[in-house]
Formats: sequence, structure tokens, C-alpha cells
Amino acid sequence: MSVAAQQSYDVVIAGGGIVGSACALACAQAGFRVALVERDILGSGATAAGMGHIVVMDDSEAQFALTRRSQLLWQALGPALPAAAEYETPGTLWVAADDQEIEEATRKQSWLAERDVPSRLLTSRELAELEPNLRRGLAGALLVIDDAVVYPPVVALHMARQAQALGATLLMGRAVTRLGEGEAMLDDGTHLRSSRLVNALGAEAAACTPGIAVKKRKGHLAITDRYPGFVRHQLVELGYLKSAHSVSTDSVAFNVQPRQTGQLLIGSSRQYGNEDSAVDQAMLTAMLQRAKLYLPALASLSVIRVWTGFRAATPDKLPLIGPVPGDPTLWLATGHEGLGITTSLATAELLAAHFTGAKPAIAPEPYLPARFALTPSQEETLQEKL
Ligand SMILES: Cc1cc2nc3c(=O)[nH]c(=O)nc-3n(C[C@H](O)[C@H](O)[C@H](O)COP(=O)(O)OP(=O)(O)OC[C@H]3O[C@@H](n4cnc5c(N)ncnc54)[C@H](O)[C@@H]3O)c2cc1C
Repeated sequence: MSVAAQQSYDVVIAGGGIVGSACALACAQAGFRVALVERDILGSGATAAGMGHIVVMDDSEAQFALTRRSQLLWQALGPALPAAAEYETPGTLWVAADDQEIEEATRKQSWLAERDVPSRLLTSRELAELEPNLRRGLAGALLVIDDAVVYPPVVALHMARQAQALGATLLMGRAVTRLGEGEAMLDDGTHLRSSRLVNALGAEAAACTPGIAVKKRKGHLAITDRYPGFVRHQLVELGYLKSAHSVSTDSVAFNVQPRQTGQLLIGSSRQYGNEDSAVDQAMLTAMLQRAKLYLPALASLSVIRVWTGFRAATPDKLPLIGPVPGDPTLWLATGHEGLGITTSLATAELLAAHFTGAKPAIAPEPYLPARFALTPSQEETLQEKL
């Protein structure tokens, strides 16, 4: 090995998706000498495949803390983003189909109110006035006012470039082949030395750090031609929480996002055990049928492109942010499942706080990888569960 092929940094980040780019920026802002390694182009993985819905979630207190902290960071970042990031705040309408879902909307509303998140319950009539293309007879909705949308790959690129302006080194078109024990090895033979190696490889994270509790969860999205004003808010069925967030079965749910271009992004599907990136016709049909159930006039619109992507799923629906037990040089920033665009910013903030020793804005414990540090037999059970 030549001397020139060996370099050292304060922090080496593997993976230039939105999470790795946000971590690179936060670490560069904290004064570290950072290297960011991406095998393809920045933001080309799940970050390019995702919807860009910046959403506060309430599955658990820990999920809420990370999503809400991130949302506040997005609000601060928004004005500094380039126009191509298409950051705007249409709010989310959680659509209630029946009385049972109205009960859930009411519960969610008071839960959010207790935590100072602005939201408002809408009657059936108010919902029809706000979104006339929704089918008649829906029971109502919960409007979560601060929820935003963004075009994620542009943000990943922006943050990586900002990090570079602060002195970070971007190593593009090179894959990490080994990560740990103070060294990242790249496929061109380069060795990067660091006491802080960060695995931000998204759904590919387990390839470089075997045994971590991350599995691929496939998703489909479709995008239409331009129909400005067809819908005005991010629309999500309240049943989404029941169906799309189940951790074991394939599912589809109604989830439609208006883009600044006038296009509509239509989601969403979730599948385990399918690592083939090809569009699955049956899932796609089920997803579009579900969307048409809520927006019947979708049937007359043109879908111009469909694609798939892989979320990095963990068994408890929380990401892995923090040190890897057994290797003091290795850190994880992965496992963000369907919320990694939203939670990239608080993830980066938490990681930088780990490195600087600063007091983090939210408690780091729920996201520590050590929660999955298991005995071999527990490990077996976990793999079965995944
Ligand atoms: C269909 C779908 C819809 C979604 N919708 C939303 C949403 O509305 N809101 C939301 O918050 N989240 C959403 N998500 C989730 C979100 O997209 C992800 O959680 C997020 O993009 C994860 O970012 P990441 O940086 O961890 O991973 P990635 O973007 O996948 O980045 C990992 C990077 O690592 C690179 N890489 C892989 N292996 C190597 C290697 N060996 N060496 C170097 N580089 C490597 C890849 O090329 C990639 O660029 C959605 C996901 C999908 C699939």
C-alpha cells in the first residue's frame, strides 16, 4: 500500500444519502475534518426514491421526539435551501374514513396538543371544501399544520456541498468495502483512518456492519403528470398507521403528495423479503387502487413514472444512532425506515453531540444501537422476527 493511499480524518462517513450528508454537515460545523464516501452519486439511494414528507409521528415518545426535533430543524433550514429543494409547508391531512377513525383523529389531536404541535380537527364538510377531489362521505380529518414536503436529493447534495465548503472531503464513485477498527477501506485500495467511522449506508448498512438489526423494506411510488391544485395538502389515510406500519406483512396505504410542479406523488407500499428492485405489478396496482378509493378522479390522470426503493427497517421502528458495542471507532446512523428524510437532521445533530460531548436537544438513549446488543440465541430470534 502506498503512503498516498492512506489518509486520516476526524470523522469518516460511509454513505452520501440524506442521512450521511446531514451528518457530514453537522460534523463539519462542529469543527471536525470529515470525509464523506459515496459509491454512486449523492442522494441516489432511498433518498431519491422517497417522498420527502416531513412529518411528525406519534407511534412512540421516542419517534415523536426525533420527528418533532427534526421538523423544527427543517423549519430553521428551510429558508436557506435552494429553490430546487421545493421546501414548503402544506400540512398533512390525516383523513378519517369513518367514526372509528374520527376517534383516532381526536386522540391524535389531543396527544399533539399536549406536546405543543399545532393541529386542527376538520368536519366532513370542511374536509370536502379543502380537498374537493376526495371522495364524498369521508368522516373528517386531522390537519397537522407544520408538516412539510421537500425534494430530498437536492437537500442531500446541498448539505454535502455545505460540508465541503467547511473543509469536508467528498469521495464520490468509491465504495466502502470494510468499515471498523479505525479504518474504512475503499474499493480503489484507499485506506481512511479515523477514530469515528460512521455507517450511514441506509438499507445497505448490514453489508458493512454484519449482524445489525437492519433489513430492507421495499416501497413503490408513482408520479403523475402536472395537475396543479388537484390536491393541496399531503393526504394520508388514518388507517395508514394500522396497515403500512405493521412490521411483518406486505401492505399498501393511501398517501398522496402535491409537488410544486403540479405533479402528484402517489404512495405507498411496504414489502419485506423482496430485494428485487423491479416494480411489482400486483403491489403497484393495489397501491393505485387504494389511492383511487380516496381520490376517484385520479383514474383520469396520467401516471408518468413508477419506481421502487428500499427503506432500512429495524424491529422497533426506531433508527440506530450511536456507537456500535464492541468497536469504539464504529458508529451507526441508519435504520430510519420510512422517516429518514424527516429525521436526517435530528440524527445528524445527535451524532455530532455524541462526538463533541455537547448536551443533545433530545435524549439519545432510545436510538442507541446497544439496545439490540444480544446474546447469540436472542440474535437468532431477532433475525427470525425481521
Ligand atoms: C418509497 C419510499 C417513500 C419514502 N417516503 C418518505 C417520506 O415521505 N418521508 C421520510 O421522512 N422518509 C421517507 N422514506 C424514507 C427515506 O427515503 C429514507 O429513510 C432515507 O432516504 C434514508 O436515507 P439514508 O441516507 O439513510 O439512505 P440512502 O439514501 O439509501 O443513502 C445511503 C447511501 O449509501 C450509498 N452506499 C451504499 N453502499 C455503499 C458503499 N458500500 N460504499 C459507499 N456508499 C454506499 C448509497 O449509494 C446511498 O447513496 C421513503 C422511502 C421509500 C423507499
